Amino acid sequence: MNPRNRLNFSGGPGALPQSVLEQVRESIDAVPGVGLSVLGISHRSDWFAAVVAELEDNVRRLLGVPAGYHILFLQGGATQQFTMVPLTLMQGSQVPADYLHTGYWSGKAIAEARREGPLRVLWSGEGEGFGRLPSDGELDFAADAPYLHYVSNETVEGLQFHRLLGRDDVPRVCDMSSDFLSQPCPVDQFALIYAHAQKNIGPAGVTVVLVRDEVIGKAPEDLPGFLDYRSHAQAHSNFNTPPVFAIYVVLLVTRWLLGEIGGVAAMAAINQRKAGLLYCALDGSDGFYRGRSAPADRSLMNVAFSLPDVHLEQAFLAESQAAGFTGLAGHRSIGGIRASIYNALTVAEVEELAGFMADFQRRHRR
Ligand SMILES: *Cc1c(COP(=O)(O)O)cnc(C)c1O
Repeated sequence: MNPRNRLNFSGGPGALPQSVLEQVRESIDAVPGVGLSVLGISHRSDWFAAVVAELEDNVRRLLGVPAGYHILFLQGGATQQFTMVPLTLMQGSQVPADYLHTGYWSGKAIAEARREGPLRVLWSGEGEGFGRLPSDGELDFAADAPYLHYVSNETVEGLQFHRLLGRDDVPRVCDMSSDFLSQPCPVDQFALIYAHAQKNIGPAGVTVVLVRDEVIGKAPEDLPGFLDYRSHAQAHSNFNTPPVFAIYVVLLVTRWLLGEIGGVAAMAAINQRKAGLLYCALDGSDGFYRGRSAPADRSLMNVAFSLPDVHLEQAFLAESQAAGFTGLAGHRSIGGIRASIYNALTVAEVEELAGFMADFQRRHRR
């Protein structure tokens, strides 16, 4: 393996498809048909308006987004959505918003929302070390909550909901930052979906928001302009200077999904094969590799596991790094190992990692 072309198994920013990176390289010199570097094209140009329009259209096609939704490209990351969501939907409600505490990132969302108004933690996995997700029987959703918030894929712990949560009469809000466009998604069941680009669909700097028109229509009138979805909707995601480069790369990724992969159902099939390879490696290791999450809640994006002791984990990280695999250290909050296998990593590349794992185990088994 060429050491200058390491495989990126990082939790984020994640790998991007080779064909996209080639087009990005070209566009830094000059965007075809424009003759300017993408880094210096005006956000007021016709070209950029067409980029935003095509990207919106591609997301609509990929996910089958029905009429009645705005698609926005915002800054501030998922973290800014942790605040914009309660600012928009709590509206002085005396009834608390329902939040699920299933891992590191939902915990961050809860901390920010608490600053804006009352919330209820409907279920928390903290006491059990976030090793699993709740079953339906453990969830008693309030009928009068202003909204329900959850994280579809807990990136740090490697936990993913494989079902829809909540009640049809309470607006569902979901942070899909680490599994957006990795599989089909019933958009019409959500009032608001947000996902930053840097895990699965592009570089850092842009966050995709799918929001029902009525949510925007009912937003409080006195929000700061930058934190009001209305401003961004009216300005077609051009309220102030947007991250033109990041948005362009996300457009290239959606073209890749549509043209080379064949859509999100095909992407999901590939992602299932990749995750299957690694979970098989864990399950077939006689306890050498220990999966972190309950089997029913295993993430298809982030495979988190540990080894029998910390010295073996350090050896695993050092040897994998030397063999050309990067980003395998677990999140700093929990340690261990985490292999993030976002859309752009191929089946063959994940097979290489599974091969390395088998070899490492042979050499280090006691
Ligand atoms: C990485 C991550 C975040 C943090 O997003 P920022 O863009 O850094 O604010 C939030 N939610 C989830 C699920 C994540 O994986």
